[in-house]
Amino acid sequence: MLKIAYHPCYEHPLKKGHRFPMEKYDLIPKQLMYEGTCDFENFFKPLKANFCDLIEAHTEAYVNRLLNLQLTKEEIRQSGFPLSKQIVDRELIITQGTIDCSYYALEYGIAMNVAGGTHHAYSNRPDPFCYLNDQAVGATYLLKNRLAKKVLIVDLDVHQGNGTAEIFRNTPEVFTFSMHGKHNYPFEKEISDLDIGLENNCTDDEYLSTLKQVLPKLLKEQQPDFVFYQSGVDILASDKLGKLACSIEGCKDRDQFVLETFFELNIPVVCCMGGGYSKELRTIVEAHCNTFRIANELVN
Ligand SMILES: [Zn+2]
Repeated sequence: MLKIAYHPCYEHPLKKGHRFPMEKYDLIPKQLMYEGTCDFENFFKPLKANFCDLIEAHTEAYVNRLLNLQLTKEEIRQSGFPLSKQIVDRELIITQGTIDCSYYALEYGIAMNVAGGTHHAYSNRPDPFCYLNDQAVGATYLLKNRLAKKVLIVDLDVHQGNGTAEIFRNTPEVFTFSMHGKHNYPFEKEISDLDIGLENNCTDDEYLSTLKQVLPKLLKEQQPDFVFYQSGVDILASDKLGKLACSIEGCKDRDQFVLETFFELNIPVVCCMGGGYSKELRTIVEAHCNTFRIANELVN
């Protein structure tokens, strides 16, 4: 059974014309239901994450300031989101969704969050579109509760997982792998355990052959017993923020390769959506839905 975290607050009503396409959060579950890939029983509604789980990945001072809506003007500007109780609650629910997914992944092999992958959030500050780093909180949760010994974070969003790299800089139990556009945001990158910066206009062939070389080697060396996958679809040529040139089929092949690799080895994977900013909303939804279709096919 593919369990999927979803809450109506994922589509927070930001101002119309905001460059972050919030509609996708509503449309992805609808599309999956409409086409029959998923049913009501696949979805679950997370509650809000607990303070004590958040401060395993974030500093206590930052979490307190965030929960009390006391971030500085500069921090709020940097986040790209207006700071409100609603948006903080949304972040808390997404983060709990990723934690809950961990249990479902342990049971079924793969679980998905229709949001999250907020990999820019640092231990002590927000970064574009990210107040809390859900996968980092998920990884520390697993380690603290002895549900995993070695966690691998596979971040294939076009933007580097800078916050994730910073949070786990001195944590040998978490290996951070980010493959991203070399010339994309963040322009000053953090150091992950493994970074692969791709040149502009990188095509499917180049993208997939690099990934297929690196991932099996990484698995062998690191021997993770749990994986978080950030499956951003901003690697598409149609993406307004990305600078790569992958096709929607190439993006689908990427997800197939990643999910299949871990599933076949019985390594649980939690997959979170990450970015996607193609001009046409239907392209974004279709690319994300492909990730769910592949996961659903594997677990059934
Ligand atoms: Zn991105």
